[in-house]
Amino acid sequence: MTYIHDTIVRLQKTSPAQAEFYQAVEEVLDSLQPILETSEQYKRHAIIERIVEPERQIMFRVPWVDDQGNVQVNKGYRIEFNSALGPYKGGLRFHPSVNAGIIKFLGFEQIFKNALTGLPIGGGKGGANFDPKGKSDGEIMRFCQSFINELYRHIGPTTDVPAGDIGVGAREIGYMFGQYKRLTGNYDGVFTGKSLLWGGSLVRKEATGYGCVYFAQYMLEAKGDTLAGKRCLVSGAGNVAIYTIEKLYQLGARPVTCSDSSGTVYHETGINLETLKELKEVRKVRLNEYVTAHPEAKFIPAADYPADGNAVWRIPAELAFPCATQNELSEADAQALVANGVIGVSEGANMPSTQDAVEVFLDAKICYGPGKAANAGGVATSQLEMAQNASMQRWSFEEVDEKLKVIMKNIFLSASGTAAEFGEPHNLVLGANIAGFRRVADAMIEQGVV
Ligand code: GLU
Repeated sequence: MTYIHDTIVRLQKTSPAQAEFYQAVEEVLDSLQPILETSEQYKRHAIIERIVEPERQIMFRVPWVDDQGNVQVNKGYRIEFNSALGPYKGGLRFHPSVNAGIIKFLGFEQIFKNALTGLPIGGGKGGANFDPKGKSDGEIMRFCQSFINELYRHIGPTTDVPAGDIGVGAREIGYMFGQYKRLTGNYDGVFTGKSLLWGGSLVRKEATGYGCVYFAQYMLEAKGDTLAGKRCLVSGAGNVAIYTIEKLYQLGARPVTCSDSSGTVYHETGINLETLKELKEVRKVRLNEYVTAHPEAKFIPAADYPADGNAVWRIPAELAFPCATQNELSEADAQALVANGVIGVSEGANMPSTQDAVEVFLDAKICYGPGKAANAGGVATSQLEMAQNASMQRWSFEEVDEKLKVIMKNIFLSASGTAAEFGEPHNLVLGANIAGFRRVADAMIEQGVV
């Protein structure tokens, strides 16, 4: 299709060196072919041209002073991508790999993910190329305060509501909220993922991981299968991976791996959740320490990974949950998973499978839940946090968890129903992209040329 090619060429020219962004755009546009071919109105309203261009991009300097008294400078970003369905909503990522292209790909994905939840939230994303690894608590606080000294003027509970992502959890949200409150004098729901002590929602911390497992459950259920007794591979060791593992155990499955940048843990009898939480949530150390507590488990150092992929995906299992980061699962990894008999993949991370890997899953016709559908439970629960803040209410754990389950079920039904409507019932990439896109595009048309 020439419009895909033309769009990518135009973006390469006008927004150079943003490989991950072009990748995300190409995947969405590829799925949209069946509706763009038949619908004149999307063309007439220049929806594609408008939807790939952020409404606003904010880039700023973040100067701060480290513990040795040296001045450090990072780059801060907030991309307010699309507000057709509600205030910009999406996380902040603090990681050395962050650049404009990474934040743009994440923001673009967020538009369709948020639309799929059926909730009134637009798409945005932000962050900084700051590396929280090895930083003291004081350094983290000063960085967060400096970041907000610029960002505060752009955000608000009805305009743009940031949350966490890689490198940003309740502690960072606390420091950012404190500075926002000091500068504006407002105590409002401008962030989600807040501490339970002061406005946070129960289940928010667990929501992305739990939701990703619920999504796998609904995919299996549609085939008359369940999670019970299934051997599962999980990558990552952050918030998403930990609560994916927790929910897998609750539903009777056996997660046998987790990973971080140091390597992969393979524990045949099942990952010990208590040890994992102790290492990652309390002590915040590398995963190689896992085998000290469990010598029977195996640790595969990152240096020993195959050249064409990631050791975690070479271990035989029935289900896979990529919960680490973008492009962590290569074509060769996908082929190994399929050869080893994987029946389902549910993505907790954003765009963890490369485009070629996705093709392998679709060709094999296994259950494949793309990130923008399978990991939408996090942002959906953020919207539930916003609803509680706005109505000054607090819902119980069970109440929020029940709402999360219903939202994940609806996302699955919407993606699979749309996939069936276009004659490819197993293709949830197509289903999720079209379902999300239609909601945003139709709202954009109704709101005129803005
Ligand atoms: N960072 C998460 C995501 O990728 C959550 C965003 C939010 O809660 O706003 O969807």
